[in-house]
Amino acid sequence: MSDLIKDYMNFLNNCKTERLCIQDIIKKAGKEGYKDIKDVKKLTVGDKVYYNQMGKSIILFNVGSESLENGMNILGAHLDSPRLDVKQKPLYESDGIVYLNTHYYGGIKKYQWVTIPLSIIGVVALSDGKIINVNIGDDDKDPVFYITDILPHIAQKQMAKTGDEIIEGEKLDIVIGCSDGRKTEEKDKDVNKNRVIELIKEKYGFTEDDFMSAELEVVPSGKSRYVGLDKNLILGYGQDDKVCAFTSLMAMLEIKDVKRTTCCILVDKEEIGSSGATGMSSNLLLNATSELVYRLSLSNPELVIRRSLFNSYMLSSDVNSAYDPLNAELYDKQNSSFLAKGVVFNKYTGSRGKYSASDANAEYVAKIRSIMKDSDGDISFQMAEMAKVDIGGGGTIAKYCASYGMQVMDCGVPVQSMHAPFELTSIFDIKETFRCYKSFLKLTA
Ligand code: MN
Ligand code: MN
Repeated sequence: MSDLIKDYMNFLNNCKTERLCIQDIIKKAGKEGYKDIKDVKKLTVGDKVYYNQMGKSIILFNVGSESLENGMNILGAHLDSPRLDVKQKPLYESDGIVYLNTHYYGGIKKYQWVTIPLSIIGVVALSDGKIINVNIGDDDKDPVFYITDILPHIAQKQMAKTGDEIIEGEKLDIVIGCSDGRKTEEKDKDVNKNRVIELIKEKYGFTEDDFMSAELEVVPSGKSRYVGLDKNLILGYGQDDKVCAFTSLMAMLEIKDVKRTTCCILVDKEEIGSSGATGMSSNLLLNATSELVYRLSLSNPELVIRRSLFNSYMLSSDVNSAYDPLNAELYDKQNSSFLAKGVVFNKYTGSRGKYSASDANAEYVAKIRSIMKDSDGDISFQMAEMAKVDIGGGGTIAKYCASYGMQVMDCGVPVQSMHAPFELTSIFDIKETFRCYKSFLKLTA
């Protein structure tokens, strides 16, 4: 097998948006024999297919030898990460500076996104049906983009504000151009903006109006890096939840001959509540499973679909907040997860009195505990909550899958500085999570 960590770091570097993730996943899965389910008429034991939802979510199936009705072993992670989305009418010029207006996506601390190099990645859909791919800022030859902040010398008022107001959402506009110093008159007040529009037309072939039908994501520029002299940690953008998505995918591709059908869900829109046609609260899994059952030519297909979901086991592969010694007061240490102590199980997530949680069954937790070993020995795992009771909380895709009646538990890699432009994970945890996911895919009823 190739180097898991090196491949993971490349995945972080090359797949900062969900669309780029899907393209890369299809390439990797294709090499292992996975075909687009739309191109396959009949399926049988050992066949491998994927169901692609709008190029933003994907579900992979590896048909097992056991009856599908007995359920699948499902790994599910999300591909979207917090970022700034370019608005639909974004361009404006102010005092010689050209800006792109943005709307943030997901839970961010807005003040973390100023004064760092930024890239713009995404697509522009033209009205003639053509799609233009945009990817500026990650190549060394590219320029980057930038959000300004107030200098400390005159930031007295700003610094007295609460964290949420230090940088307001409407002030997260990125600098994409500036006057070259030529003198201008009042009548050509948009001269720099128009110059930027010309540059865009020349280089990328779209106009100002085309921003209306674009999905451009502003993400931190730069590659993933090792952190620390001993290089035991990794810094990178979007590790929530690409670290679990990548390890889930790699486990799915490696475990080939399976008894129970295996399934890997890599989905969009988790960071904004799993809503929309590419989110987990849609009928995505039901639709994909229906296409699978149809091609297996089973009798009573409707019942088979329901039973196969109802009898499934799932790990909702998502990250957990790692204990932070510098902010120890936020954590119940005994019920926390730590960097470099292995994969994390969350019996439940949610907030306050476990609201919105999918609480895994004790019997199921016991079953998963029992398989935390492989030919290399025990797999390190930790059982944790996100933080102290009533400190905050969050949700995952677990509850949407649990609605089919299947057994689900949250399980993933501990992360420091989650949702920051660059997040921190431990190499040991990534490797243990990969082992855990492989062991899970071989789980029997
Ligand atoms: Mn997540
Ligand atoms: Mn998240």
